[in-house]
Amino acid sequence: MSATATTCPYCGVGCGVLAHVDASGATHVEGDPQHGSNLGRLCVKGAALGETVDLRGRLLHPLLRESGALPRRASWDEALDRVAQGFRRVIDAHGPDAVAFYVSGQLLTEDYYVVNKLAKGWLGTANIDTNSRLCMSSAVAGHKRAFGEDLVPGCYEDLELAELVVLIGSNTAWCHPIVYQRIARAKEARPSLQVVVIDPRHTATCELADLHLPLKPGTDVWLFNGLLAFLFRHGAMHAGFVDKHTQGFEAALAAAESDAGDPAEVARICGLQLADLLAFYRLFARHERTVSVFSQGVNQASSGTDKVNSIINCHLLTGRIGSPGMGPFSITGQPNAMGGREVGGMANMLAAHMDLDRPVHRDIVQAFWQSPHIATRPGLKAVELFEAIERGTVKAVWIMATNPVVSLPDADQVKRALARCELVVSTDIVAQTDTGAFAHVLLPALGWGEKDGTVTNSERRLSRQRAFLPAPGEARADWRIVCDVAQRMGFDRGFAFGAPHEIFDEHARLTAFRNRAPRDDAPMAARRVLDLGGLAGLDRQAYDALTPVQWPVCAAGEGTARLFGDARFAHADGRARFVATVARLPVHAPDREYPLILNTGRVRDQWHSMTRTGKSPRLGGHIPEPFIDMHPRDALLCGVREGELARIGSRWGTMVARVQHGGGILAGNAFVPIHWNDQFASDARVGSVVNPVVDPISGEPEFKHTPIRVEPFPVR
Ligand code: SF4
Repeated sequence: MSATATTCPYCGVGCGVLAHVDASGATHVEGDPQHGSNLGRLCVKGAALGETVDLRGRLLHPLLRESGALPRRASWDEALDRVAQGFRRVIDAHGPDAVAFYVSGQLLTEDYYVVNKLAKGWLGTANIDTNSRLCMSSAVAGHKRAFGEDLVPGCYEDLELAELVVLIGSNTAWCHPIVYQRIARAKEARPSLQVVVIDPRHTATCELADLHLPLKPGTDVWLFNGLLAFLFRHGAMHAGFVDKHTQGFEAALAAAESDAGDPAEVARICGLQLADLLAFYRLFARHERTVSVFSQGVNQASSGTDKVNSIINCHLLTGRIGSPGMGPFSITGQPNAMGGREVGGMANMLAAHMDLDRPVHRDIVQAFWQSPHIATRPGLKAVELFEAIERGTVKAVWIMATNPVVSLPDADQVKRALARCELVVSTDIVAQTDTGAFAHVLLPALGWGEKDGTVTNSERRLSRQRAFLPAPGEARADWRIVCDVAQRMGFDRGFAFGAPHEIFDEHARLTAFRNRAPRDDAPMAARRVLDLGGLAGLDRQAYDALTPVQWPVCAAGEGTARLFGDARFAHADGRARFVATVARLPVHAPDREYPLILNTGRVRDQWHSMTRTGKSPRLGGHIPEPFIDMHPRDALLCGVREGELARIGSRWGTMVARVQHGGGILAGNAFVPIHWNDQFASDARVGSVVNPVVDPISGEPEFKHTPIRVEPFPVR
């Protein structure tokens, strides 16, 4: 059996997979030992990929639904005409901002590129956002503020080279298992490697921790402002680095001193033992090679961007960035969150890391595309977008490879919005989803193993996803469906792509074009980092043979493991920025009516709304149903018992789940996983309970902090 080298479609670790199809048609997978991110390992989800590629439940033909009737099968021509004419009608009547796209970190970079090109360059709207908004947009905003561009400076190898790894708001053991395994093996080989876990919950990741700080939810900025003040006072500042390569230190230190100058007060606010807090601060001060890994526990907050910058500030103060074994490290949730950002896959971005609100960037992109329009202002971010649909200002939406009725906060609002939307188009691999139930047009897409393209993982490593299975039914690649609609809208030029390598080539050339363009927004000292110029011009054969590589990619095709070794950042003056971060609590505090704080997240063996992992009995065996993990004291106060069902209610909605006492929850807190939905159990969408508060800078929702109450179900 020959194997196809491809990439896992789940988390942002981006593991290389070797896939084989046997004579009976069954798919078998193993880790790709040549892939630099996982070096041959796979976690339990990746190892079960072969169990998820059958055609049960697949959407295999275009479907149309009229006036509430059951959907009927349609030809591609009829379905594509319906989409193209519907979008054209709405734009003609109400303008381009009356249409919108809501896409996904599951899309391949080539898919992301063409749909952004259609929206921003041809339709003239930036109303295109992505479910990646929900997991890492605070990291994006923090990177841009600190570095001048959305960049993760380091690589996974740094975790093995570090003396201290700080895991902040990250249940790495379950959510990024291969990253966790790399740290665990490094610690096994070198027990002096210290691991600190900062998380309100005692998760599986704590098994590796030398120190666990169960901080009070939402108090991270106090903790890291306190660390900044401590490092300064205890002589850990790298004055030469700060003087030569940064700006804004004084203001950041003043903000930190005023919020968090007294460690005893910080410990009180964060709910930590002072001795533990000081132990962490001393570890950080002592270890030059420190990596601070952060994930959704940091990002998914109304102060998410400030949390990110408060962490980065500590690395700038100590000059710990750009060398092996050190740096701040955002690990993303989705397989192609990074690739989507490269091509401008968010409502406030343009392709090639350019910004919609900079006229010079708009000119560069429009000149390269030679497009009839270019959106002139940032579009609606995820939560705002569905609010605009409910208000009726957005009248047509195309949802690709995502399930917002399950995954967005205040998910019942999303239902109301879609129910009143004039035209809902859904492209998916699954026939029945909570979101698809509202679609007027359902378009069948290719799934993992059937589609071809590229993804980029958390360490900037670009890898190929390759097809090794035939296209089922009438399913088509997402990029092709977008091009088909664009051409039906009269946009032949710009969308005449025949294969993914042609799209990738255009994307790569645009990054190089940007870097050659006149820099009226930056002196020559500044740099623009995203560069795929070394991969421009790949023909089909070279694209097929592309091996994983970390961008920027030089003309000779070589990648770059680490950024900022020369301490030249992407801001106009080449200096990084400290950001003065002001600590603030989450927006909604618990009260008498809603006394507990709901935290949400992933479990080890499921992925998103379970449309794929839900097919595997092996994965389902880990945790078979939705649960609420709560402290026994709170369960007693709420009148619920372990093993019984409970109704969870907030000001936004309700759900039902089984009570458990996992032992890792602080009193006053509860945890519910994000995966279950109405396709698997009734009343099981935690999204309907979550508050729709967002970070004012990044637009990322506060998934980690919703006041709730819990009561017996059925209500006694
Ligand atoms: Fe897939 Fe993530 Fe597991 Fe790697 S760690 S196999 S990318 S789910």
